[in-house]
Amino acid sequence: MHEISLIRTVFNTLEAEFSPEELSRLQAVDLKVGLLSNVEPILLQNAFAAVTQSEGKYETTTLNIETVPIEVYCPVCDKNSPVKDYKFACSCGRPSSDVVSGTELLIHRIHFAEPASVRSA
Ligand SMILES: [Zn+2]
Repeated sequence: MHEISLIRTVFNTLEAEFSPEELSRLQAVDLKVGLLSNVEPILLQNAFAAVTQSEGKYETTTLNIETVPIEVYCPVCDKNSPVKDYKFACSCGRPSSDVVSGTELLIHRIHFAEPASVRSA
């Protein structure tokens, strides 16, 4: 399943970037998902739950998904316009296929809990 492998990629990225100690304090992961990225946020949430349960880690971690609207660039107006109802056109009416946002699928922010206070034995 597409979403499962995406979630595994997210975890692999985090594990390459942070130490196991840091990841044990992983509270939340914020993803940015463009409306053109072919990813359903609900399926991504389901995949996240399935992966954390089957691997027995990150079970207390929250997945936050921020959807990114589609925007196209219009060279005549020199500005970006939001795409509504999949009509790829500028607000001036000129059609544009120059998509400048909405295709992203990226880790936007990572939240860690404060380190547990160190106690002497
Ligand atoms: Zn325009």
